[in-house]
Amino acid sequence: MTEHTASYYAASANAHLPWPQLEGDAECDVCVVGGGYTGLSSALSLLERGYQVVLLEAARIGFGASGRNGGQIVNSYSRDIDTIERNCPPDQARLLGNMLFEGGDIIRSRIERYQIQCDLQSGGVFAADTEKQFHELAAQKARWEKWGNDQLELLDRHAIRQVVNTERYVGGLLDRRGGHIHPLNLALGEAEAIRSLGGRIFEQSPVVEIIAGEPVTVRSHKGRVKARFVVVAGNAYLGNLVPELAAKSMPCGTQVVTTEVLGEERARELLPQNYCVEDCNYLLDYYRTSADHRLIYGGGVVYGARDPADIERLIRPKMLKTFPQLAGVKFDYTWTGNFLLTLSRLPQFGRIGSNIYYMQGYSGHGVTCTHLAGSLLAEALAGQAERFDAFARLPHYPFPGGRLLRVPLTAIGAVWYSLRDRLGF
Ligand SMILES: Cc1cc2nc3c(=O)[nH]c(=O)nc-3n(C[C@H](O)[C@H](O)[C@H](O)COP(=O)(O)OP(=O)(O)OC[C@H]3O[C@@H](n4cnc5c(N)ncnc54)[C@H](O)[C@@H]3O)c2cc1C
Repeated sequence: MTEHTASYYAASANAHLPWPQLEGDAECDVCVVGGGYTGLSSALSLLERGYQVVLLEAARIGFGASGRNGGQIVNSYSRDIDTIERNCPPDQARLLGNMLFEGGDIIRSRIERYQIQCDLQSGGVFAADTEKQFHELAAQKARWEKWGNDQLELLDRHAIRQVVNTERYVGGLLDRRGGHIHPLNLALGEAEAIRSLGGRIFEQSPVVEIIAGEPVTVRSHKGRVKARFVVVAGNAYLGNLVPELAAKSMPCGTQVVTTEVLGEERARELLPQNYCVEDCNYLLDYYRTSADHRLIYGGGVVYGARDPADIERLIRPKMLKTFPQLAGVKFDYTWTGNFLLTLSRLPQFGRIGSNIYYMQGYSGHGVTCTHLAGSLLAEALAGQAERFDAFARLPHYPFPGGRLLRVPLTAIGAVWYSLRDRLGF
């Protein structure tokens, strides 16, 4: 658990108080397991509807992907709506299409409502390395416009140079409804909002057992929570607590670096409008500048890479391919974080029995979908499950080989790419 301390976000986090550890017994309507965006958004949406909520976090708020990600507010899901339209009945595709941009809207409204200081900036660019990717971006623009996003602009080779100062790309797509945030400060702000609504959060309180029943009993080392409902929101950090969830997903690492302070002028030379950028490759690069004018650059998919020298060796060539002008720039922070890959790359929502819910597997694009997930969960518990179930009905496949194949990148690539193609996803 040391790698979080090396993150730029931990070093630039807003002042915050730690939460107590769970000791003894507690009761509530809903017990949430995990203090990332899925858990925080669930807790907040439930509290806004008047439920009593206890959230248990194994380490600390934002310890997982939510406190160490690229901070990019990327709309849609890890697979776009065309994949869903091809593989799902029209009524389900319509429900999911109508929610494509809701996660981002939830983030913005939370930031405003709870006055969360997390450096929100509008505008995200999808950058194409090839003509084929550029044509696909044009098709994506048409799809997203059909579902209501009128803030998109296709950028040709010349236009993308005006917003990303590199010769690397043949074009791109600007989404003004995208953008970026300081991810840990968003999580910490959401935790404070939970406090303001009377929610109880316990840190350093790993859940070691969930005992089904009515109520469900959730056991940690030094205490227990009895609840009418449980929300499992541990994502890539859940381990084998719920074996049926572990079987159908695979934790993957991705690495991020933060440069020394470049200064405003140099930062704006790289990204003049302060948009964030991700490219269109499966193993994608993603980057943006921070409020104090550093470049935050992520990429790679290496599970368990923690050594700062390894991370630097992995990311520096990627960064220099995009911005050769940064040769010689120092990295002040390097870290790794885990996201949860599913075979279809679509998120996995569902129920175990009637009162244990789960949402996981955003496959690398979870900043917006986690926020949607929490909102839909609260809606479902309040009796309106149609939209939650539109996600729950998405097909899920177990990873062949299960836990044994979780580590090597080669295994991920070989199994995942071949199966994805064979399943038509
Ligand atoms: C490096 C990196 C960069 C990324 N960049 C982007 C990006 O720019 N844009 C984007 O859209 N997505 C990005 N993602 C993905 C996105 O961050 C995740 O999809 C999202 O944060 C997942 O949130 P979560 O709450 O489901 O999981 P997490 O944030 O991982 O939270 C899970 C929490 O559950 C806790 N937990 C686990 N087990 C237990 C237990 N037994 N008891 C109690 N607590 C437990 C963990 O300690 C952890 O805090 C990135 C991911 C990574 C790793």
